[in-house]
Parts: sequence; C-alpha cells; structure tokens
Amino acid sequence: MAVTQRDRAWVEVNREALHRNLEVLRARLPENCRLMPVLKANAYGHGAAVTAKALAQMGVTSFCVACAAEGVDLRQQGISGEILILGYTPASQFPLLHRYRLTQTVVDTSHAVQLSQFGRKLRVQVSIDTGMHRLGVGSGQLEQLFRIFQLPNLEITGIFTHLCAEDLDSQEARTFTFRQAEEFYTVVNALKGWGFFPKAHLLSSYGILNYPELAGDYARIGIALYGVLSTQQDAAKSPVHLQPVLSLKARIASVREVPSGEHVGYGLQFAANRTAKIATLTIGYADGLPRALSCGVGSVLIHGRKAPIAGCICMDQTMIDVTDIPDVHPGDIAVLIGASGSQRITAYDWASQAHTITNEILSRLGPRLERILV
Ligand SMILES: *Cc1c(COP(=O)(O)O)cnc(C)c1O
Repeated sequence: MAVTQRDRAWVEVNREALHRNLEVLRARLPENCRLMPVLKANAYGHGAAVTAKALAQMGVTSFCVACAAEGVDLRQQGISGEILILGYTPASQFPLLHRYRLTQTVVDTSHAVQLSQFGRKLRVQVSIDTGMHRLGVGSGQLEQLFRIFQLPNLEITGIFTHLCAEDLDSQEARTFTFRQAEEFYTVVNALKGWGFFPKAHLLSSYGILNYPELAGDYARIGIALYGVLSTQQDAAKSPVHLQPVLSLKARIASVREVPSGEHVGYGLQFAANRTAKIATLTIGYADGLPRALSCGVGSVLIHGRKAPIAGCICMDQTMIDVTDIPDVHPGDIAVLIGASGSQRITAYDWASQAHTITNEILSRLGPRLERILV
C-alpha cells in the first residue's frame, strides 16, 4: 500500500482562496500589468508544483523562483511559460538555464559577461539596484548597462528593481520608495532612448497594496497571493481582503493519562498539576513548527477546541494537553494552522509567538509535509 503523508502531517492548499487573491490583487493594478507569482521556497511552503499547476489553470503564464534548481523542478513538473530566477546562478549551472529555458536575473555586470560567455543564447532579465544594495546593476551606471545590452548572447526580455521599503508607511519610507521608482524609470527611459524596450517591473506584494500607481508590465506577487501579509498589524491596514490559502494538519498518534506531578517531553519542562490527558501529534519542529511555540506558547485545534502545546516540541512529534477536550482518539486530526469549528489559528499567531514574520513561518514548512489541493 502506498504511503500517503495524509496519514501523518500535511498542507492543504485552498484553490478558491488562491483564485480569489489572484483576482483581488489583479484588480488593483492597471489592465496591462500582469501578475508574476513568486513560487520560491516551495511556494512559501505551499508546495511549488501544486501551486504552479493551480495557477496555470487560472491562466497564469509567468512565474518567479529563487534559484535554478527550483526552476528545473517546475519544468519537470510540466510547467511551461516564463520562469524567472530572481537570485544568482553560477556558471556551472548555465547549461540548466539553457536546457530548461529558464530566464536568469543578471545580478551585476560581471555576471552579465559570464552569461554571455556561455556561448549559447540565454534569456535574461537585468536587475537594477535602486537602493536595496543586494543585487543589480547600479541605477547610475548607465554606461555599464548599455554595454550589457550590447553583449552578443543575451536575450534580454526584461529589467526590474526591488523596492525595499514598500511595506512601511512613514514619510521617510514613502520618499525613499518614490526615489527608487524614479531612478528605475529613468533607466527604463534611457534604454528607450537607445532603442531597447524590455518589459519593466518593480512591485511586489506590498507595492501592489501601497503603490499600485507605480505598476510596470508585471508585478511579482508573493506573500499576498498566499492570502497573508507579513504581520497581523499590516493585515489590519490592508486595503484589500485576502484569504489565507494554507492549512496545516497532523494526526494524533496516541493519547495517554499522565498522573499529577509527572513530566511530559524532553527537559522536564512540563509537569502535570492534575491528572492530565496528553495527546502526541505526528509533526515536529523538523516540519516547520517553531520550537518557540513549546510549553503552552502555542496551541492546536482538536474538534474545534484549543489544546495547548505541552512541554518542548520534538523534532518529529509534539505533545498537547487535551485534558479538557472529550473524545480524543488516535487518528483524530489536529489543525495547526487553519479553522476547526468556530476557532482559527493563523500564520499571524505563529509569527507573533515566534517573534518573526509569516513569510519565515510559511517558507520553513518542511519537505515531509504532503501538499494537497483542496
Ligand atoms: C521574494 C521576492 C518577491 C516577492 O515578494 P513578496 O513580498 O512576497 O510579494 C519579489 N521580488 C523579489 C526580487 C523577491 O526576491
């Protein structure tokens, strides 16, 4: 019999929520600006293949990933259309770019020269550094840019920049963002003057929400497409209503009575102060459940009721206190992120409990989890 991870721990990807978010975000942008979903880090934990296939069915034809291996993986799953690698790819992997028709980001001038020296035509987009100082050709380095556009073996389909303060609403951040956009469009216009007309894009999730008027030919949409923003505070201010796409579930392996005074788990961190009923879940920190949620910081939902995490989260298993919940049995489903009855636990809850942002929480959901479209 085939092993299905639905017997252990799994992610459910809600197609309808994904479609809704796609439509809501598209509606904020001008007609000619297309969405380019970002599927890096296994589609922010949602499962790159499952998510890409669902989006392709919804008419999406361009995607972004972080590295060549992620692009190859999507091609091997049958995804066609444009796949833009947003990060660096070393020369040793240029053959993969060619074989799998991946579009590589030019991260600086020397990278452009290397890409051209590969000798066979490669599709690229040129990153422009307008102030993040991570990757890209400096927006003031027009001569270098001109040289890149003269290189013999590059098929340059686009140029883009990344806004690094588009999520903040201070006056300083707004001024900075407008300056980034201005520098970017100055580059776009210089290229036009030289007779080059690559596609141009700069917005990602927060840009679509906060600066839709800056839209170019594409918007690279990551976290918001998945129906969450980085923090609950941001979500409260969001101009659009997004629906979380992901639920995370696991099975109960075993239920036991623990006498008052006995401990649960590693390190004697939890002691029962009454006769407790403890259930053991088939999911642990190796699956992406942050260990910071140990010892009652986090809870899970069983039969629509909250059960606190008891003791330290283990690598592959987690104990929960179900003393006050009747009829809990092995095989029952625990909801770690998502709804059960009238209760809901969100990625925002995890993010605040683990002192991080939802992007990190979701992207760290591990490879053992099966991804299921529902
Ligand atoms: C990750 C990434 C995005 C997507 O960002 P979100 O905030 O998740 O929408 C867009 N562009 C680049 C260059 C990225 O690295």
